[in-house]
Amino acid sequence: MSISFPVDKVREVASLLESASPIAIITHHRPDGDAMGSSLGLYNFLIKKGLKATVIVPSDYPDFLHWLPGHNQIVNYDRQPDKSASLLREAGLIFCLDFNYMNRVEGLESSLRTSPGKKVLIDHHLEPEEGYDILFSFSDACSTAEIIYGFIDALGDLNLLGREIAECLYCGIMTDTNSFRYETMTADTHRIIAKLLDAGARNYKIHELVYDNSTENRIRLLGHALKDKLIVLQEYRTAYISLSEDELDTYNFQTGDTEGIVNYALSIRGIRLAAFFTERNGLVKISFRSRDGFNVKELASQHFEGGGHKYAAGGKSDLSLQDTIAKFLDLLPVYKPGLNV
Ligand code: 5GP
Ligand code: MN
Repeated sequence: MSISFPVDKVREVASLLESASPIAIITHHRPDGDAMGSSLGLYNFLIKKGLKATVIVPSDYPDFLHWLPGHNQIVNYDRQPDKSASLLREAGLIFCLDFNYMNRVEGLESSLRTSPGKKVLIDHHLEPEEGYDILFSFSDACSTAEIIYGFIDALGDLNLLGREIAECLYCGIMTDTNSFRYETMTADTHRIIAKLLDAGARNYKIHELVYDNSTENRIRLLGHALKDKLIVLQEYRTAYISLSEDELDTYNFQTGDTEGIVNYALSIRGIRLAAFFTERNGLVKISFRSRDGFNVKELASQHFEGGGHKYAAGGKSDLSLQDTIAKFLDLLPVYKPGLNV
């Protein structure tokens, strides 16, 4: 897509960059490749401009993202709750990346809301809440990383693009488009990718680090999920997989190990709705994926305290795993017309 940044808002942020310090960058709970790639891409850019910035994450993120340049400087709320909260409270400028609702930062929500720092949202989810000072919200963008590239361009700073920034942004675009395959992946996005390669991003290396970097346990957990736990309901064009806490423990689950499993359920011919349920610390987390017009963002927001995009959304439930699945199954007849069966 071609993202058009309003000149007045870019000027406002440019002047804040000069006057408001220190800068905090925050992303959503359980950050994914786009959340981390866009946050660290922006971080490396701000550092290169000689500014003082810190990335704060509300929780751990997968091992296969730990190679991202700037990873070692991140402050993680899980490990440093007080430091995370005070960095937010003391920030003069806060970039909020890859989320629309402030409750997506979970334990840091009240520190974010009450911080006197100016809040700039850079995101590609629909319908951001009010409360940000400046919004760069482009729901057609394939990823937040793509918008960060546009932001650097709008500031007139593309000359600062080097390998570190480029590899972060490449990772964000690659992971949020499932390796450049979604409809959101336009000719303009491919042109951005070309610029990132020109700037030194090693595409082959990034694919290997993210996708070919699993532990043996992770691959065996995937095997168990596909062989023993996949349920296909052709009458609803729906497939789902669930993994209990015990099953995850059996395979020594690490953050990120279940990433991508939901896509296998959606890859079955004729399936339009896929769901993936995992139970961790007494809470059930759900990933939804869909195609051919079926909107999982609505399903997630109306029934599972969640949200996301039309074809990729997530939510949660404090019911037991079995009861959450039962609730999902009860909803299928309601959604049957939308599933076109
Ligand atoms: P995933 O299934 O990969 O965790 O998430 C897919 C999409 O749904 C992402 O865009 C993510 O931001 C969104 N999402 C996942 N979990 C939640 C949630 O609990 N609340 C909201 N609002 N969005 C979510
Ligand atoms: Mn994203």
